[in-house]
Order: sequence, then structure tokens, then C-alpha cells
Amino acid sequence: MNIAIASGKGGTGKTTVATNLAFYLQHHAKEDVALLDCDVEEPNCHLFLKSVCLETKKVILPVPSLDPDKCTGCGKCSEICQFAAIACIKGKVLTFPELCHGCGGCILACPAGALSEQEREIGTVETGTSGKIKTVYGQLRVGEAMSPPLIRAVKSHAQNGQINIIDSPPGTSCPVIQAVKGCDFVLLVTEPTPFGLNDLSLAVEMVRVLGLPFAVGINRSTIGDEKVREYCRNEKIPIILEIPEDREIASMYSRGRLVLESLPHYMEKFEKLYLQLKEVIPC
Ligand code: SF4
Ligand code: SF4
Repeated sequence: MNIAIASGKGGTGKTTVATNLAFYLQHHAKEDVALLDCDVEEPNCHLFLKSVCLETKKVILPVPSLDPDKCTGCGKCSEICQFAAIACIKGKVLTFPELCHGCGGCILACPAGALSEQEREIGTVETGTSGKIKTVYGQLRVGEAMSPPLIRAVKSHAQNGQINIIDSPPGTSCPVIQAVKGCDFVLLVTEPTPFGLNDLSLAVEMVRVLGLPFAVGINRSTIGDEKVREYCRNEKIPIILEIPEDREIASMYSRGRLVLESLPHYMEKFEKLYLQLKEVIPC
């Protein structure tokens, strides 16, 4: 069972929801839980869960390497590449490894055997535990743009028979699609502000295109206006979580602590969320 926690923009409380939901599910609902942090440019779920790292693995992408002595300059490699990661200009081949998705198409297409695989490290996947919660997160190398293969590597740790919470990157671009794709349910976290509404509507479009069941959670629900609720009513989108604006939550967050560890009265909210999730996705 894979539940993605996503948001159209950063800073909406997505990680707060993901980490506290994982904590609630394991400590109170006694479910087997894994938290897969796919926000690989800025992973921080493990910090809130105080997870202990057990293993670090490099994630390698195979990119083409050219043997100029064998190249005939036919251009077939550049014709097949959908990502403009290899070009053939006036018979000379140029490779752009930072754009390469490692599909291997150009290597297969080269009739002269002039291309071979070369390894390029894009980041690491760290696996660990926080009590009985399994934690996995990806750490993209600084300056690296190719996050989808790393997100795939993190998601490969999702196992059947447990609830896999996937903390998605913010936004609606390729990395987010990679994180939410194939999930059983997506919880879109937003704030009741004009920016929140704008980014929520983009995220809703994305999950609808992907055909994923979803609902909305409103963080800092006591600020802003009613437009997000109005939008959800008109679009018939259920709101299954509301967390009010609370200085104590902000204070816990700034100290890297979970809300449920220090503010137990919020337990009820996560219990309600759990029961609603159980209704829409049989756990
Ligand atoms: S491996 Fe795939 S993505 Fe990379 S250069 Fe070759 S065709 Fe393009
Ligand atoms: S397909 Fe092979 S031979 Fe043709 S230009 Fe590309 S690398 Fe050179």
C-alpha cells in the first residue's frame, strides 16, 4: 500500500504530515510502516524521525562514452535520444551526461559500436530505522539535475504487506510525477491562501491526468480565506485533514521534533486521517 504525500509548492507542511502519519501508523495503529523520502534535493524526514542509518548505497546512471576512433558520424545516436543528451554536429558527437536518463538507446542504435556505458554517480540511497519504522531517503548530489532515477531507487524499497508513505518533492514537475506514479492514494497538502490554491489546482490537474485517487489536507487551516475549501467543494474533492495554525507546531518543527511526540492532543487528527484513509484504500 503506497500513500504519497505531495503538494503543489514547498513549505506547506507536507513533511510534517508524512512524518507524523508514519509515527501514528506505527505507534498507535500498530501498522508496519516505511517512510520513503523522495524529496531527494532536500530530504529531512529522517531528521524528524531520528532515524539510524544502516546502509548507504550509491546510485549510478549508465551514460554513453564515445570511442572517436570507431565513430563514423552517422548521427543515429542523436536521432534516437529524446532528451537531447547526445548530439552529432557536422559528423562530430557531443555528449551531455547531465541530461542523460541512462536509457541506453543510443548505445543500441550505434551501428559502429562506438558507444559504451560509463558509470555516473547521481546520489545515494540511505536506509535505516526509527524504532520499528523503516526509513529510506535519497540524497541527490549537489548540482545534479537528474533526480527521477534516484527517486525510482528510493521507491524500489516499497514492500507489499506494509504501508509505504512516500514523501514527494514539491511542485508538479517530472520528479513529483516519478514519486506519485503508481501510488494507491495521494494526499495533497496545501494552505488556505491564494498561492496555496493556485498550486493546489495544478497538483489536482496532475493527479487527475495520472488517474490517481486523491484528497486534500489543509495545513495552517485557521489562516487565510475560504477559497481552498470552496474550490474543493466545487471540484468534489474530499478534505480529510485540517491542522490549525499553531505556534507550538512551528516551534516543534524548528527543533526537528514530531508534533505527535510533544503535542499529543493532535493524535485525534491523525487517527481521523487514518480512519478516512482506511475507508478509501483497504489497508
Ligand atoms: S542513454 Fe538514452 S538518454 Fe542517454 S544519451 Fe543515450 S539515448 Fe540519450
Ligand atoms: S551512432 Fe555511433 S557511429 Fe553514428 S554518430 Fe553516433 S556514435 Fe558515431
